[in-house]
Amino acid sequence: MNHLEEIRAKLGIEEVVGSYIQLKKAGRNLKGICPFHNDTKPSFTVSPEKGIGYCFACNTGGDIFKFVQLIENVDFPEAVRILAQRANVSIPEFKPEAHNQRMKVVEMNSSSVKYFAEQLQSSPEHKKYFLDRGLTEDTIRKFKLGYAPDSYNGLKDHLINIGYRENDILSAGLLNQRSIADKNTYDRFRNRYIFPIFDHQDNAIGFGGRIIGDGEPKYLNSPDTLAYNKSLVLYGLNWGKDAVKKEDLAIFVEGYMDVIACHQAGCKNTVATSGTALTVQQLKLIKRYTPNIAFAFDQDSAGLEATKRSIELAQEAEMNIKIITVPEGKDPDECIKKSPDMWFEAVKQATPVMDFYISYILRLHDKNTLDGKKEILNFLLPIIKNYNSEVEQGAYLDKISLALRVDVKLLWNDLKNLTIKKSYSPPTTNTQEVLLKKAYSREEFLLGFIFQYPDLYKLVDENLIDSVPLETGTEKFYKAIKKVYNRASAVDLDAVKEELDEEDRGKIEVYALLIDDIYPDFSEESAEKEIKLFISLINKKNIDNAEKELIFKIRSAKDSGESTLLLNQQIQISKLKTKIF
Ligand SMILES: [Zn+2]
Repeated sequence: MNHLEEIRAKLGIEEVVGSYIQLKKAGRNLKGICPFHNDTKPSFTVSPEKGIGYCFACNTGGDIFKFVQLIENVDFPEAVRILAQRANVSIPEFKPEAHNQRMKVVEMNSSSVKYFAEQLQSSPEHKKYFLDRGLTEDTIRKFKLGYAPDSYNGLKDHLINIGYRENDILSAGLLNQRSIADKNTYDRFRNRYIFPIFDHQDNAIGFGGRIIGDGEPKYLNSPDTLAYNKSLVLYGLNWGKDAVKKEDLAIFVEGYMDVIACHQAGCKNTVATSGTALTVQQLKLIKRYTPNIAFAFDQDSAGLEATKRSIELAQEAEMNIKIITVPEGKDPDECIKKSPDMWFEAVKQATPVMDFYISYILRLHDKNTLDGKKEILNFLLPIIKNYNSEVEQGAYLDKISLALRVDVKLLWNDLKNLTIKKSYSPPTTNTQEVLLKKAYSREEFLLGFIFQYPDLYKLVDENLIDSVPLETGTEKFYKAIKKVYNRASAVDLDAVKEELDEEDRGKIEVYALLIDDIYPDFSEESAEKEIKLFISLINKKNIDNAEKELIFKIRSAKDSGESTLLLNQQIQISKLKTKIF
């Protein structure tokens, strides 16, 4: 067995895909929200039997290697490496340390993580900072928290001693240069508590450092490097992704300490952006695991603005959003330190977005003045108009009427008279319609049936005129099937694969899955009916085309001999038509 087969044998497609998106059983297959397009369906079908996962709405997917390539945006060797590690399969010819520049930075970061952690363990007075903030020894170790001494060359000397080159350390963002003129380098992180940042694959990609005592900046992050792109990373996701999936909810908090405190308290489905406002890419990343998010940002005015922006982004990404209000306006970290129960209660009491908007706008304007009331309504009514249900609209209007002391009937009037553009288009309706848009041809559907029910091929062989439909792209499959069938009087899919080139082999499962996807729980009997239908549709199309071509030829025939010949052919076709339809 080669290592690819070994990995395939150890990791099922459902396991690999299931580690990125939530899958639910659907017959003999599983389904989940497609991570490759803006899906609301779920459209992504995983077939453990066929070993593939595929979305027929955006036509993306494949086996475990292809899937990892697509979702991690890596090349084939890197996908193999990721899966080999997961399956505990060693790939002898593969040297990770030489793999690429990015991994080099990751390795150097890993060495630095160890260095900073050792510094912390050997200086109790600094470890006390974390302990005083309520973290346990276990937590300090789990999150690999560290301490950067007040030294200009502590880390630099350490890394050079273990064999790294100064230039590489610089480009990993661990050193600073004195100035453009003075190229001498020194440690970037000095006199700081260190929070190592990992990507969701557990690679050490960067650092956040909090100043010890007073000083600026309070938090310093790694610059963007080959390994670290702050707009792509969610702090905590490497430790929390399983919990996010399990709870079907991701809680967004503001800082490193908030994430760590939440995890320690058992609320592990918590993440934070690091050194940036929430980005679309981060939402896409989290949407692989859940469509449900809750924001627990500060309630000060900057925090409210951040929440509002985040809500707008998340709404565009079609996620379900709730807002967690931390009691007494505290950070999650402080709240948990006081009482973890208080935090869990706040999570449970998370409110819909509309409630957030109401309290947000009431803080900005004076509800007791006429102008204030106007401003508040100008902001809220268009948002309420966007809700489709009158019950929901009514509930919010009641709240506003109470807060503003305005007759709710007047609010209904205003709402009815309000004309607004819908801010987003409704999601596409169902798979079948998407498929029609994508326009799989009849020939492709019939191919799917043949691959899904190879035993029924004789129907095709007996009834499909010429057995080879005209549609380009599918011809090679029909030819391969016919060749195998003529040889063995049966369609063996492995034998068909032998007749195809590398790229087309994988399509056999995809076509078969297409049928599985559209006709779940289809009996062989219904399949037979459907196959006959497709055969007659294809026959009709092909005959019509042949006839059109003949008529054209007859019109432009050069002499009566040729014309007679063509007319005879036309009669044959007409006979054929009456015979089969
Ligand atoms: Zn898709």
